[in-house]
Amino acid sequence: MKEIKHGTSKKECFACSSFSVPKIIGKYKHWKLRECPNCFFQYWWPIEQASNQYFEEKYKSFSEASSRPDFGMNQKLALKFIKSKIEKRANINNIFDVGCGEGMFLNKINNMGFSAWGTDFNRKAIKKAKKIFGLQNLYPFSIYDFAKISKLPKFNIITFFEVLEHIGDPLKFIQTIKKLLTNNGIIIFSIPDAKTYDYWEKMVNIPPHHLTRWTKNTVRQFLNHHGFKVLKIKNIDRPDSECLFMNLSLRIGSKKNYYTALSPRIKIIWKYFSLPYRQIIYLLNLKRPTIFVIAQLK
Ligand SMILES: [Zn+2]
Repeated sequence: MKEIKHGTSKKECFACSSFSVPKIIGKYKHWKLRECPNCFFQYWWPIEQASNQYFEEKYKSFSEASSRPDFGMNQKLALKFIKSKIEKRANINNIFDVGCGEGMFLNKINNMGFSAWGTDFNRKAIKKAKKIFGLQNLYPFSIYDFAKISKLPKFNIITFFEVLEHIGDPLKFIQTIKKLLTNNGIIIFSIPDAKTYDYWEKMVNIPPHHLTRWTKNTVRQFLNHHGFKVLKIKNIDRPDSECLFMNLSLRIGSKKNYYTALSPRIKIIWKYFSLPYRQIIYLLNLKRPTIFVIAQLK
């Protein structure tokens, strides 16, 4: 969202590009939740990008445990699509994952024979991904610094799972993605659904953690506006083994993530015994409503 001029309250919406006075629909600390009256895209103002340290602390549990507690269904859907492309003999050489964490997804991409590239704010996670999976092309950079690397190849597919909602400038982000893509390159990503948030709203869906809120409609408008053709867009509900802990924290009125506070040994035990709990998570409706998207550069 660009400020047009100081002293006027009209803004250009980066989802639909209309100039209008945003509605204020919520408040958290010094932030105000604004909504575009044209396309209902929501963003926290002032937009302040969280630091590397913030992400390292927030995602400590992931870089401490031996691997992420679960390989998300968003990544599984992405792999399914990539496999279908291989069957159709599509020309795919390399894949770049923004916010790759410990490289669980990129490891699978690497094993499928593609050149796997990734970036993440979390330096510890990058270090771990290199060590555990032997992945070479990983950088603890922002996507903007990554794009400045000389002799960088163009990418056939770029993925960013649960990244866009953390980005301070989605316009700059999508423009950088476009520069890094090949002609007719594909993006695959997932993002929390703003419409169906429930119990974990207060825990994570707040600034500076999440800066923007999206629906299927705003995602579609945003992509169309920036030269992408949407190939697939659908809602998925991600069960999460951390949900139970987050819910517990909220019930006792704490914003602390108790999963992070667990000892590494307990986390490993939790990881192996969490399968039946996932069924409970479904029954109790503890899940993360998510939008899954595949789009192609026009
Ligand atoms: Zn708008």
